[in-house]
Amino acid sequence: MTNLVADILLSNLPARRTGSGWHKFNAICCQHNGQSKDQRQRGGIKQDGDTVVYNCFNCGFAAGYTTGNHITGKMKKLLGWAGVSEDALKRLIFDVGLLKHQREHGQRVVLPEGLKTVLAWLLEGTKESQLLQIADFLTSDDRMLDLASYFWTPDPNDMDLDRYVVTIKGDLEYPTGWWAYPVLDSSLPVLTQSGPDDEPEDDEPRAEDIEEFRRILIAEGAIGE
Ligand SMILES: [Zn+2]
Repeated sequence: MTNLVADILLSNLPARRTGSGWHKFNAICCQHNGQSKDQRQRGGIKQDGDTVVYNCFNCGFAAGYTTGNHITGKMKKLLGWAGVSEDALKRLIFDVGLLKHQREHGQRVVLPEGLKTVLAWLLEGTKESQLLQIADFLTSDDRMLDLASYFWTPDPNDMDLDRYVVTIKGDLEYPTGWWAYPVLDSSLPVLTQSGPDDEPEDDEPRAEDIEEFRRILIAEGAIGE
């Protein structure tokens, strides 16, 4: 099963898969948490269904992500420590948020004022820098997102919406939801038809996952009992 966060973490870490499904490597968290760098392969990642967990048996840092949720603050830190660039992180947060929204259902809603597709604005010759930057974001790094499927409005709608790219669930005739990502200012909240989309509290990996990883490390002599 594809997990966007697991994919990007594993492609950025020299992880070695163990028989139990845990990927092991020198943890990347400890030096950021006031401890010396791990040299005993005490970091682990495991993907289980929709969920990926990271756990460190050196400094105790843990983070997780489940498809359909937001990325937590801890996971954002971890991705940075893994060397994921700010731009790549921004795109990941966009993809993850959109996936979350697509999983949720809604009745017909009222759309913000002034929305047209990014493509329609470009074809009209609109040169506003917000629009051009958003078009750039949608098509950067071979993402090739369809500019006819994403919306923009020059009308802030009392919520800075001219700094966002908007997607609509359903269509313009019968919209069942909208979701907006702050492309031009990542300090702004993600917005939806029912207001800001709150991020979750940081979650911890499940106790049984940690216990299982601990058993593997003990068996391999990486940590004492
Ligand atoms: Zn650590």
